[in-house]
Amino acid sequence: MILHSLGAGQEVGRSAFLLDTGNARFVMDFGIKLVPGDKKAVEYPLELPAKPHFVFLSHAHLDHCGYLPSLYSKGETVPFLATKPTLEISKIMWKDALKVAKLNNNPPPFKHKDIKQADKYWDPVIVGQKNSLLGINMDIYDAGHILGSVYANFDIQGKKVLYTGDFKYTPTELHKGADHPPETDVLIIESTYWYQNHPPREEQIKKIYEIVDDVIESGGNVLFPSFALGRTQDLIDILADRYYGKVPIYVDGMGKKITKIYLQHLNQLQDKNFPNKVKKVRFIENSLQRRKATERPSIIISTAGMLDGGPALEHMLNMSPKSAVILTGFQVEGTNGHRLLTQNKIKIDNYELKVEFPVYYISLSAHADRGDIFRFIQQTSPEKIILVHSDSSQVFEEELREEFGYDAKAIKTGESIKI
Ligand SMILES: [Zn+2]
Ligand SMILES: [Zn+2]
Repeated sequence: MILHSLGAGQEVGRSAFLLDTGNARFVMDFGIKLVPGDKKAVEYPLELPAKPHFVFLSHAHLDHCGYLPSLYSKGETVPFLATKPTLEISKIMWKDALKVAKLNNNPPPFKHKDIKQADKYWDPVIVGQKNSLLGINMDIYDAGHILGSVYANFDIQGKKVLYTGDFKYTPTELHKGADHPPETDVLIIESTYWYQNHPPREEQIKKIYEIVDDVIESGGNVLFPSFALGRTQDLIDILADRYYGKVPIYVDGMGKKITKIYLQHLNQLQDKNFPNKVKKVRFIENSLQRRKATERPSIIISTAGMLDGGPALEHMLNMSPKSAVILTGFQVEGTNGHRLLTQNKIKIDNYELKVEFPVYYISLSAHADRGDIFRFIQQTSPEKIILVHSDSSQVFEEELREEFGYDAKAIKTGESIKI
Protein backbone atom coordinates (compact mmCIF):
# COMPACT_ATOMS: atom_id res chain seq x y z
CA MET A 1 0.00 0.00 0.00
CA ILE A 2 1.19 3.52 -0.72
CA LEU A 3 0.26 6.51 1.41
CA HIS A 4 0.53 9.88 -0.32
CA SER A 5 0.60 13.01 1.85
CA LEU A 6 -1.00 15.84 -0.13
CA GLY A 7 -1.00 18.19 2.87
CA ALA A 8 -0.61 18.37 6.68
CA GLY A 9 2.79 16.66 6.49
CA GLN A 10 5.09 18.53 8.91
CA GLU A 11 2.55 21.37 8.81
CA VAL A 12 -0.86 22.19 10.25
CA GLY A 13 -3.61 22.85 7.70
CA ARG A 14 -4.82 21.29 4.40
CA SER A 15 -5.07 17.73 5.76
CA ALA A 16 -5.25 15.46 2.72
CA PHE A 17 -4.00 11.90 2.31
CA LEU A 18 -4.49 9.36 -0.44
CA LEU A 19 -4.16 5.68 0.36
CA ASP A 20 -3.61 3.42 -2.61
CA THR A 21 -4.24 -0.19 -1.60
CA GLY A 22 -3.45 -1.65 -4.99
CA ASN A 23 -7.13 -2.46 -5.57
CA ALA A 24 -8.68 0.82 -4.51
CA ARG A 25 -7.74 4.37 -3.70
CA PHE A 26 -9.33 6.56 -1.10
CA VAL A 27 -8.76 10.01 0.31
CA MET A 28 -8.74 10.83 4.03
CA ASP A 29 -9.74 14.48 4.48
CA PHE A 30 -9.35 17.19 1.85
CA GLY A 31 -8.79 20.52 3.57
CA ILE A 32 -7.35 23.93 2.91
CA LYS A 33 -4.81 26.05 4.74
CA LEU A 34 -5.68 29.67 5.39
CA VAL A 35 -2.40 31.47 5.70
CA PRO A 36 -2.98 33.78 8.66
CA GLY A 37 -2.64 37.51 8.31
CA ASP A 38 -2.81 37.32 4.54
CA LYS A 39 -6.34 37.15 3.23
CA LYS A 40 -5.12 36.34 -0.28
CA ALA A 41 -3.10 33.33 0.65
CA VAL A 42 -4.98 30.04 0.66
CA GLU A 43 -3.06 26.79 0.22
CA TYR A 44 -4.76 23.76 -1.30
CA PRO A 45 -3.79 20.10 -1.15
CA LEU A 46 -1.26 18.93 -3.75
CA GLU A 47 -2.71 17.43 -6.88
CA LEU A 48 -4.12 13.93 -6.52
CA PRO A 49 -1.89 11.41 -8.31
CA ALA A 50 -5.01 9.48 -9.36
CA LYS A 51 -8.77 9.68 -8.98
CA PRO A 52 -10.02 8.29 -5.66
CA HIS A 53 -12.82 5.72 -5.41
CA PHE A 54 -14.13 7.35 -2.24
CA VAL A 55 -13.35 10.03 0.33
CA PHE A 56 -13.53 9.92 4.12
CA LEU A 57 -14.01 13.22 6.00
CA SER A 58 -13.12 13.15 9.70
CA HIS A 59 -14.82 16.45 10.62
CA ALA A 60 -15.97 19.84 9.36
CA HIS A 61 -13.07 22.17 10.20
CA LEU A 62 -11.88 23.84 6.99
CA ASP A 63 -8.40 22.36 7.29
CA HIS A 64 -10.03 18.93 6.87
CA CYS A 65 -13.08 19.49 4.64
CA GLY A 66 -12.43 22.83 2.87
CA TYR A 67 -11.49 21.65 -0.62
CA LEU A 68 -13.79 18.66 -0.95
CA PRO A 69 -16.30 20.27 -3.38
CA SER A 70 -13.49 20.78 -5.92
CA LEU A 71 -13.45 17.01 -6.41
CA TYR A 72 -16.91 17.34 -7.95
CA SER A 73 -16.17 20.13 -10.42
CA LYS A 74 -16.68 17.92 -13.46
CA GLY A 75 -19.77 16.18 -12.18
CA GLU A 76 -17.82 13.35 -10.55
CA THR A 77 -19.80 10.75 -8.65
CA VAL A 78 -17.26 9.69 -6.02
CA PRO A 79 -18.97 8.95 -2.69
CA PHE A 80 -17.77 10.78 0.40
CA LEU A 81 -18.24 9.37 3.85
CA ALA A 82 -18.94 11.61 6.81
CA THR A 83 -21.30 11.89 9.74
CA LYS A 84 -24.52 13.88 9.32
CA PRO A 85 -23.33 16.85 11.44
CA THR A 86 -20.09 16.92 9.44
CA LEU A 87 -22.08 17.16 6.20
CA GLU A 88 -24.39 19.88 7.54
CA ILE A 89 -21.60 21.98 9.03
CA SER A 90 -19.30 21.48 6.01
CA LYS A 91 -21.98 22.93 3.75
CA ILE A 92 -22.03 26.10 5.87
CA MET A 93 -18.23 26.25 5.86
CA TRP A 94 -18.00 25.76 2.07
CA LYS A 95 -20.55 28.47 1.34
CA ASP A 96 -18.76 30.80 3.73
CA ALA A 97 -15.42 30.03 2.03
CA LEU A 98 -16.96 31.16 -1.29
CA LYS A 99 -18.22 34.35 0.33
CA VAL A 100 -14.83 35.09 1.87
CA ALA A 101 -13.04 34.44 -1.45
CA LYS A 102 -15.36 36.90 -3.17
CA LEU A 103 -14.87 39.52 -0.46
CA ASN A 104 -11.09 39.29 -0.81
CA ASN A 105 -11.19 39.20 -4.63
CA ASN A 106 -9.71 35.71 -4.61
CA PRO A 107 -10.65 33.21 -7.31
CA PRO A 108 -13.34 30.84 -5.93
CA PRO A 109 -11.87 27.44 -5.01
CA PHE A 110 -15.02 25.73 -6.37
CA LYS A 111 -18.56 26.62 -7.41
CA HIS A 112 -21.95 26.38 -5.71
CA LYS A 113 -22.90 23.60 -8.10
CA ASP A 114 -19.90 21.57 -6.84
CA ILE A 115 -21.27 21.81 -3.29
CA LYS A 116 -24.61 20.53 -4.59
CA GLN A 117 -22.90 17.67 -6.41
CA ALA A 118 -20.88 16.75 -3.30
CA ASP A 119 -24.08 16.79 -1.23
CA LYS A 120 -25.64 14.28 -3.64
CA TYR A 121 -22.81 11.81 -3.12
CA TRP A 122 -22.68 11.98 0.67
CA ASP A 123 -22.60 8.52 2.22
CA PRO A 124 -23.48 8.66 5.94
CA VAL A 125 -21.33 7.08 8.62
CA ILE A 126 -22.46 6.54 12.19
CA VAL A 127 -20.31 6.10 15.28
CA GLY A 128 -20.21 2.45 16.32
CA GLN A 129 -21.28 1.15 12.93
CA LYS A 130 -19.36 -0.69 10.29
CA ASN A 131 -19.10 0.44 6.70
CA SER A 132 -17.78 -1.40 3.72
CA LEU A 133 -16.76 -0.12 0.30
CA LEU A 134 -14.79 -1.93 -2.41
CA GLY A 135 -13.72 -4.61 0.04
CA ILE A 136 -12.45 -2.08 2.58
CA ASN A 137 -14.17 -2.41 5.94
CA MET A 138 -14.16 0.51 8.30
CA ASP A 139 -15.12 0.98 11.92
CA ILE A 140 -16.12 4.48 12.95
CA TYR A 141 -15.40 5.97 16.40
CA ASP A 142 -16.18 9.23 18.17
CA ALA A 143 -13.09 11.50 18.08
CA GLY A 144 -14.26 13.86 20.87
CA HIS A 145 -12.98 16.95 19.04
CA ILE A 146 -16.11 18.80 17.84
CA LEU A 147 -19.68 17.83 16.95
CA GLY A 148 -19.60 15.08 14.32
CA SER A 149 -15.86 14.41 14.52
CA VAL A 150 -14.89 10.77 14.04
CA TYR A 151 -11.87 8.60 13.43
CA ALA A 152 -11.80 5.45 11.34
CA ASN A 153 -10.01 2.13 11.51
CA PHE A 154 -9.82 0.77 7.95
CA ASP A 155 -9.40 -2.95 7.39
CA ILE A 156 -7.74 -3.57 4.05
CA GLN A 157 -7.51 -7.31 3.45
CA GLY A 158 -6.50 -7.90 7.03
CA LYS A 159 -4.17 -4.93 7.38
CA LYS A 160 -5.52 -2.19 9.63
CA VAL A 161 -4.92 1.51 9.12
CA LEU A 162 -6.31 3.99 11.66
CA TYR A 163 -6.63 7.67 10.77
CA THR A 164 -7.40 9.91 13.76
CA GLY A 165 -8.30 13.23 12.09
CA ASP A 166 -8.29 15.64 15.05
CA PHE A 167 -9.14 14.07 18.39
CA LYS A 168 -9.33 14.76 22.11
CA TYR A 169 -9.35 12.04 24.72
CA THR A 170 -10.03 14.16 27.76
CA PRO A 171 -13.76 14.91 28.13
CA THR A 172 -15.01 18.49 27.92
CA GLU A 173 -18.36 19.93 28.94
CA LEU A 174 -19.90 19.24 25.50
CA HIS A 175 -18.06 16.09 24.42
CA LYS A 176 -17.41 12.89 26.26
CA GLY A 177 -13.94 12.48 24.75
CA ALA A 178 -12.68 10.13 22.06
CA ASP A 179 -13.71 6.47 22.16
CA HIS A 180 -11.07 3.97 23.22
CA PRO A 181 -9.34 2.89 20.07
CA PRO A 182 -8.94 -0.68 18.85
CA GLU A 183 -5.57 -2.17 17.98
CA THR A 184 -4.25 -1.29 14.58
CA ASP A 185 -1.25 -1.90 12.33
CA VAL A 186 -0.59 1.57 10.94
CA LEU A 187 -1.58 4.61 13.00
CA ILE A 188 -1.87 7.98 11.24
CA ILE A 189 -2.13 10.36 14.17
CA GLU A 190 -2.53 14.12 14.61
CA SER A 191 0.32 15.41 16.74
CA THR A 192 -0.43 19.14 17.02
CA TYR A 193 0.46 19.26 20.74
CA TRP A 194 2.91 16.34 21.01
CA TYR A 195 5.29 18.55 23.02
CA GLN A 196 3.02 19.64 25.89
CA ASN A 197 0.21 18.72 28.21
CA HIS A 198 -2.73 21.08 28.47
CA PRO A 199 -3.31 22.66 31.89
CA PRO A 200 -6.32 21.12 33.68
CA ARG A 201 -9.50 22.43 32.12
CA GLU A 202 -11.23 23.19 35.44
CA GLU A 203 -8.38 25.53 36.33
CA GLN A 204 -8.62 27.31 33.01
CA ILE A 205 -12.37 27.76 33.41
CA LYS A 206 -11.87 29.06 36.94
CA LYS A 207 -9.44 31.66 35.61
CA ILE A 208 -11.97 32.71 32.98
CA TYR A 209 -14.68 33.15 35.65
CA GLU A 210 -12.36 35.27 37.80
CA ILE A 211 -11.52 37.64 34.96
CA VAL A 212 -15.12 37.92 33.79
CA ASP A 213 -16.34 38.58 37.36
CA ASP A 214 -13.79 41.39 37.80
CA VAL A 215 -14.44 43.07 34.47
CA ILE A 216 -18.23 42.93 34.84
CA GLU A 217 -17.96 44.29 38.37
CA SER A 218 -15.97 47.27 37.13
CA GLY A 219 -18.49 47.92 34.36
CA GLY A 220 -16.66 46.68 31.25
CA ASN A 221 -17.24 44.18 28.45
CA VAL A 222 -15.51 40.84 28.04
CA LEU A 223 -14.88 39.81 24.46
CA PHE A 224 -14.10 36.19 23.53
CA PRO A 225 -12.92 36.13 19.92
CA SER A 226 -13.86 32.58 18.96
CA PHE A 227 -13.88 30.13 16.08
CA ALA A 228 -17.40 29.59 14.81
CA LEU A 229 -17.18 25.82 15.00
CA GLY A 230 -16.43 24.28 18.38
CA ARG A 231 -15.15 27.12 20.52
CA THR A 232 -18.29 29.29 20.26
CA GLN A 233 -20.39 26.36 21.52
CA ASP A 234 -17.87 25.50 24.27
CA LEU A 235 -18.03 29.05 25.57
CA ILE A 236 -21.83 29.18 25.49
CA ASP A 237 -21.81 26.01 27.55
CA ILE A 238 -19.28 27.34 30.05
CA LEU A 239 -20.72 30.85 30.48
CA ALA A 240 -24.51 30.72 30.06
CA ASP A 241 -25.64 29.34 33.43
CA ARG A 242 -23.17 31.30 35.51
CA TYR A 243 -23.88 34.74 34.01
CA TYR A 244 -27.52 34.51 32.93
CA GLY A 245 -29.57 37.16 34.70
CA LYS A 246 -26.44 39.04 35.81
CA VAL A 247 -25.21 40.33 32.50
CA PRO A 248 -26.22 39.81 28.86
CA ILE A 249 -24.25 37.19 26.92
CA TYR A 250 -24.13 37.91 23.20
CA VAL A 251 -23.14 35.55 20.40
CA ASP A 252 -22.14 37.01 17.05
CA GLY A 253 -20.80 35.80 13.69
CA MET A 254 -21.03 32.43 11.97
CA GLY A 255 -21.03 30.61 15.30
CA LYS A 256 -24.79 31.32 15.53
CA LYS A 257 -25.59 29.16 12.50
CA ILE A 258 -23.38 26.36 13.70
CA THR A 259 -24.86 26.47 17.21
CA LYS A 260 -28.26 25.78 15.60
CA ILE A 261 -26.81 22.61 14.07
CA TYR A 262 -25.47 21.55 17.46
CA LEU A 263 -29.04 21.80 18.76
CA GLN A 264 -30.21 19.34 16.11
CA HIS A 265 -27.79 16.64 17.27
CA LEU A 266 -28.27 16.62 21.00
CA ASN A 267 -27.87 12.86 21.19
CA GLN A 268 -24.22 13.40 20.26
CA LEU A 269 -23.53 15.93 22.99
CA GLN A 270 -22.51 15.18 26.53
CA ASP A 271 -24.35 18.15 28.06
CA LYS A 272 -28.06 17.50 27.57
CA ASN A 273 -28.75 20.90 29.09
CA PHE A 274 -27.12 22.69 26.13
CA PRO A 275 -30.46 23.86 24.57
CA ASN A 276 -31.41 25.63 27.81
CA LYS A 277 -28.04 27.32 27.86
CA VAL A 278 -28.46 28.49 24.27
CA LYS A 279 -31.77 30.06 25.34
CA LYS A 280 -29.84 32.15 27.85
CA VAL A 281 -27.63 33.86 25.25
CA ARG A 282 -28.66 36.47 22.70
CA PHE A 283 -27.79 36.09 19.02
CA ILE A 284 -26.85 39.43 17.45
CA GLU A 285 -28.76 39.80 14.20
CA ASN A 286 -28.08 43.38 13.05
CA SER A 287 -25.74 46.34 13.39
CA LEU A 288 -28.01 48.17 15.85
CA GLN A 289 -27.87 45.19 18.24
CA ARG A 290 -24.13 45.01 17.64
CA ARG A 291 -23.66 48.60 18.77
CA LYS A 292 -25.89 48.10 21.80
CA ALA A 293 -23.92 45.05 22.93
CA THR A 294 -21.13 47.22 24.32
CA GLU A 295 -23.24 50.01 25.83
CA ARG A 296 -23.43 48.21 29.16
CA PRO A 297 -21.39 45.50 30.87
CA SER A 298 -21.67 42.33 28.80
CA ILE A 299 -20.03 39.17 27.57
CA ILE A 300 -19.54 38.80 23.81
CA ILE A 301 -18.60 35.56 22.05
CA SER A 302 -17.82 36.37 18.44
CA THR A 303 -15.92 35.29 15.32
CA ALA A 304 -13.18 35.58 14.20
CA GLY A 305 -11.09 33.50 16.56
CA MET A 306 -7.84 35.30 15.71
CA LEU A 307 -9.50 38.71 15.22
CA ASP A 308 -8.73 38.82 11.51
CA GLY A 309 -12.08 40.28 10.46
CA GLY A 310 -15.53 39.20 11.58
CA PRO A 311 -17.71 41.14 14.03
CA ALA A 312 -15.25 40.50 16.91
CA LEU A 313 -13.07 43.30 15.64
CA GLU A 314 -16.00 45.70 15.51
CA HIS A 315 -16.98 44.83 19.08
CA MET A 316 -13.44 45.42 20.24
CA LEU A 317 -13.37 48.90 18.74
CA ASN A 318 -16.63 49.73 20.57
CA MET A 319 -15.57 48.45 23.98
CA SER A 320 -14.99 50.72 26.98
CA PRO A 321 -11.49 51.00 28.52
CA LYS A 322 -12.61 48.93 31.50
CA SER A 323 -13.02 45.91 29.24
CA ALA A 324 -10.91 42.83 28.52
CA VAL A 325 -10.28 40.36 25.71
CA ILE A 326 -9.91 36.67 26.48
CA LEU A 327 -8.35 34.55 23.73
CA THR A 328 -9.00 30.84 24.19
CA GLY A 329 -7.53 29.45 20.97
CA PHE A 330 -4.03 29.23 19.56
CA GLN A 331 -3.00 32.53 17.93
CA VAL A 332 -0.87 32.11 14.83
CA GLU A 333 1.90 34.63 14.18
CA GLY A 334 0.86 37.38 11.78
CA THR A 335 -2.75 37.50 13.01
CA ASN A 336 -4.36 40.30 14.99
CA GLY A 337 -4.83 37.91 17.89
CA HIS A 338 -1.09 37.28 18.04
CA ARG A 339 -0.32 40.99 17.68
CA LEU A 340 -2.74 41.77 20.46
CA LEU A 341 -1.25 39.18 22.76
CA THR A 342 2.38 40.11 22.19
CA GLN A 343 2.25 43.87 21.54
CA ASN A 344 -1.22 45.04 22.61
CA LYS A 345 -1.80 46.22 19.05
CA ILE A 346 -4.04 45.32 16.15
CA LYS A 347 -3.84 46.16 12.48
CA ILE A 348 -6.82 47.27 10.40
CA ASP A 349 -6.25 48.07 6.72
CA ASN A 350 -2.56 48.70 7.39
CA TYR A 351 -3.25 51.06 10.31
CA GLU A 352 -1.90 50.00 13.66
CA LEU A 353 -4.06 50.62 16.70
CA LYS A 354 -2.94 50.42 20.29
CA VAL A 355 -5.33 48.55 22.57
CA GLU A 356 -5.60 49.89 26.10
CA PHE A 357 -7.38 47.10 27.94
CA PRO A 358 -5.88 43.82 29.15
CA VAL A 359 -5.67 40.79 26.89
CA TYR A 360 -5.54 37.26 28.32
CA TYR A 361 -4.73 33.92 26.79
CA ILE A 362 -6.47 30.97 28.43
CA SER A 363 -6.28 27.86 26.29
CA LEU A 364 -9.32 25.59 25.94
CA SER A 365 -7.78 23.34 23.32
CA ALA A 366 -9.93 20.72 21.58
CA HIS A 367 -6.86 18.78 20.46
CA ALA A 368 -5.11 15.82 22.01
CA ASP A 369 -2.19 16.81 24.21
CA ARG A 370 0.98 14.82 24.83
CA GLY A 371 -0.70 12.58 27.39
CA ASP A 372 -3.62 11.90 25.05
CA ILE A 373 -1.29 11.09 22.16
CA PHE A 374 0.78 8.61 24.19
CA ARG A 375 -2.36 6.92 25.54
CA PHE A 376 -3.70 6.57 22.03
CA ILE A 377 -0.43 5.09 20.77
CA GLN A 378 -0.28 2.61 23.64
CA GLN A 379 -3.85 1.47 23.16
CA THR A 380 -3.60 0.99 19.41
CA SER A 381 -0.15 -0.69 19.74
CA PRO A 382 0.70 -0.02 16.09
CA GLU A 383 3.60 -1.47 14.11
CA LYS A 384 4.05 1.84 12.38
CA ILE A 385 3.16 5.40 13.38
CA ILE A 386 2.73 8.20 10.85
CA LEU A 387 2.76 11.66 12.40
CA VAL A 388 0.67 14.38 10.75
CA HIS A 389 -0.90 17.77 11.58
CA SER A 390 2.11 19.33 13.36
CA ASP A 391 4.80 21.86 12.45
CA SER A 392 7.46 19.98 14.38
CA SER A 393 6.52 16.31 13.94
CA GLN A 394 10.09 15.47 12.82
CA VAL A 395 11.29 16.17 16.38
CA PHE A 396 8.56 13.91 17.76
CA GLU A 397 9.51 11.22 15.23
CA GLU A 398 13.05 11.23 16.62
CA GLU A 399 11.83 10.98 20.19
CA LEU A 400 9.42 8.12 19.42
CA ARG A 401 12.13 6.23 17.54
CA GLU A 402 15.02 6.77 19.89
CA GLU A 403 13.42 6.87 23.31
CA PHE A 404 10.45 4.58 22.80
CA GLY A 405 11.55 2.30 19.97
CA TYR A 406 8.54 2.92 17.74
CA ASP A 407 8.73 2.77 13.97
CA ALA A 408 7.59 6.40 13.61
CA LYS A 409 7.58 8.61 10.55
CA ALA A 410 6.88 12.33 10.26
CA ILE A 411 5.64 12.26 6.68
CA LYS A 412 6.22 15.44 4.63
CA THR A 413 3.66 17.05 2.37
CA GLY A 414 4.41 15.72 -1.11
CA GLU A 415 5.95 12.52 0.20
CA SER A 416 4.67 9.02 -0.66
CA ILE A 417 5.57 6.09 1.50
CA LYS A 418 5.00 2.36 1.47
CA ILE A 419 3.09 1.14 4.49
ZN1 LIG B 1 -10.28 20.23 13.83
ZN1 LIG C 1 -7.19 20.15 12.11
